[in-house]
Amino acid sequence: MSHGILYVVGIGPGAHAHTTPAALAAIADADVIVGYTTYIKLVRELIVGKEVIRTGMTEEIGRARAAVERARDGAKVALISSGDPGVYGMAGLVFQVLRDLGWTRGASPELRLIPGMTALNSCGSLVGAPLVHDFCAISLSDLLTPWPVIERRIEAAAAADFVIGLYNPASGRRTRQIVTAQAIIRRHRSGTTPVALVKSAYRKLQDAVVTDVDHFLDYEIGMLTTVLVGSSQTYAFEGYMVTPRGYGNKYDADGAIHAGQRAGFSLVVDPPPAAGPEVA
Ligand code: SAH
Repeated sequence: MSHGILYVVGIGPGAHAHTTPAALAAIADADVIVGYTTYIKLVRELIVGKEVIRTGMTEEIGRARAAVERARDGAKVALISSGDPGVYGMAGLVFQVLRDLGWTRGASPELRLIPGMTALNSCGSLVGAPLVHDFCAISLSDLLTPWPVIERRIEAAAAADFVIGLYNPASGRRTRQIVTAQAIIRRHRSGTTPVALVKSAYRKLQDAVVTDVDHFLDYEIGMLTTVLVGSSQTYAFEGYMVTPRGYGNKYDADGAIHAGQRAGFSLVVDPPPAAGPEVA
């Protein structure tokens, strides 16, 4: 039996201009395409004449298993995720199935993981530069993760002043989570902190708005929305949302260095941190 190949492919946000050449090549090379119907539709011109295994959203385990088994038996299979397959995508399930099957490196199928642009990147680009300093991603979906765990992470991320990207913020049935998330975030951020809502980035019904912590629940938020919540440093500018990298802590606008600072060395903070034992 010949060795198969399993491509685990991220196609990016939607439009092909934002799908990498490596992802397109993987799809072109595959004989069998496996994916959620919506993602299959996004790549339909690329898969003419290929065998397609479509399944609905709730059949993810079956989809991963089908992809792994076909590839194990010798086919070249592309399992398609939107964005990046390793970010709330199919890559995790693929490894679970491989582990259950007792797969080893060197056995069939050969695994090829192809990264894609995740929603944080595509959505960020549509609203400015929100992720220029430390950020984290949290999924609000409690279908597979206990809600108290998610709440604890929102609390910790808000307290630590991360920019927060919320994936899966709401769906038809799940509407309470984003309301609770706002209440938690509100305890750690001013109400005027910028918040972006980006829906269907780089797809037909794309919509992006920059609002703030106090007002973002006034807008429609659904399955195709990513919510970007600013840190205490994030500011709104000309309808954009910008998180500074911190150059202003060390340099003037004309590039001159502030008194007491040195290029290439840690920022000197005032008051200085307590001297450690190695300094004393
Ligand atoms: N693997 C995907 C994420 C899947 S989870 C990735 O890396 O992007 C699904 C969630 O991702 C959605 O609920 C939404 O919050 C976000 N998302 C995915 N594609 C998006 C797009 N084109 N525009 C806005 N949000 C998107």
